[in-house]
Amino acid sequence: MKYFDAHAHYLDRKFNRDRHELMLDMHKNGVEYIINSTNSKDLERGLQLAKRYDFVYLSILDDGYYKENADIDKEEARIDELLEKSVARFKKLCAQNKKIVAMGEFGMDFRRTRPTPEEVRKQSFWFKKDLEASRQLGLPVVIHSGDACNYVFNLLQEADMPDYGHGKGMIHCYLGSPEMAMDYIKMGYIISVTGLVTHRSPRGKNLVEVVKRVPLESMVIETDCPYLTPVPFRDKRNDSGLLRLTVEEIAKLKKTSAKEVARITTANAKALFRII
Ligand SMILES: [Zn+2]
Repeated sequence: MKYFDAHAHYLDRKFNRDRHELMLDMHKNGVEYIINSTNSKDLERGLQLAKRYDFVYLSILDDGYYKENADIDKEEARIDELLEKSVARFKKLCAQNKKIVAMGEFGMDFRRTRPTPEEVRKQSFWFKKDLEASRQLGLPVVIHSGDACNYVFNLLQEADMPDYGHGKGMIHCYLGSPEMAMDYIKMGYIISVTGLVTHRSPRGKNLVEVVKRVPLESMVIETDCPYLTPVPFRDKRNDSGLLRLTVEEIAKLKKTSAKEVARITTANAKALFRII
């Protein structure tokens, strides 16, 4: 069995104790590829991680220009200048480092703030800037949506991002409706399924139906570890070795073998992130 973990956070301090030991065990657990999500703060550590382990790839995000109190009306010129510099720096970095394969995660999140018109406007502004940066870098996107399904969908529909041959990007930890998932696929996105599919919780209430409806050819799988641990380890720390539980659940729902789910989702992720 060969698994591709399309989204993980191995720089989280929950892994400080035994990161290396875990990595050494990955192949034994059938994990062949991992995309580690990094932001500006841990970019250097991310690059080190990808250098040390040949199966670790990176999605990057420059959130350094996110100034809490940046005035998006009065300071757009300055923000664009910073964005331009950031893109130039990342372009260089990507040219030197073939393991940077995506940009993200970014998007919109209304789990902690209410979607007031002002908040929606602010988050849309930054979302568009990140999409613009990805477009200029030529990287597929890793889209985050926290209780923001409709906002994110509408904005992506408008943005009309480039397709890199096997998709525009992945909708990370997809929790929307089955209908919306199918619309995303039509738009050129891949649906990413997490361990939440094993939970049968209110948060993942759509997932069973989504997995049944979405063809395996349009699906990737991820842990989002250390979060979203699949049942029966729900209260423990997650890692890519537990991806098999998500795969087994998807196989049951799709009435196929776990091997087939692993094979197709691995091929999809490799194609999307252009890993040869
Ligand atoms: Zn994540």
